[in-house]
Amino acid sequence: MSETSIPMTLPLDTEGFLRRECPHCERQFKWQPAEDADDGAESIQSQQVVAYYCPYCYQPAPLNAWWTKEQLEHAQQLMMSEVLAPQLRRFGRQGRQTSHSNSFVKIDVSVPDFPIPEPLVEPSDMIRVDFPCHPEEPLKVIEDWTAEVGCLVCGIRYPLDLVRELPHSSEEEAE
Ligand SMILES: [Zn+2]
Ligand SMILES: [Zn+2]
Repeated sequence: MSETSIPMTLPLDTEGFLRRECPHCERQFKWQPAEDADDGAESIQSQQVVAYYCPYCYQPAPLNAWWTKEQLEHAQQLMMSEVLAPQLRRFGRQGRQTSHSNSFVKIDVSVPDFPIPEPLVEPSDMIRVDFPCHPEEPLKVIEDWTAEVGCLVCGIRYPLDLVRELPHSSEEEAE
């Protein structure tokens, strides 16, 4: 078995946040994905992080463990339509090409249609929180969360009111 990787673009909301899901408590939140440092090795980020903490249940999990069910399903559908279906079709063609020889090998493969999945969309929901200990890693948490929120990087917990983003300045005029 060989590994095939296909590019998958994940939608970000208007503030650049990516939806994630905790593998422990299965609640969703959003983080800001690290920017691709594709301009050479000059900017090696201090990516010593091997785990992130859930803001809700404060459990750590490896960096690649935070896919939402929707994202996993989307990846699976993409894999079907872009990798599996072409392979099956190629296999079917090869079968037909060799069947003119003396062999009795005849393979008929009817490939079901694997449509390319609809792109995921990301609404700009949830409440932004910023952590004093790691201001470079803000999160968005579900609106009805009232307990403490944990920092993604170090797991320190804060009361929601402390780290919640201040209202936008358009509200300043009121009282
Ligand atoms: Zn959790
Ligand atoms: Zn922190």
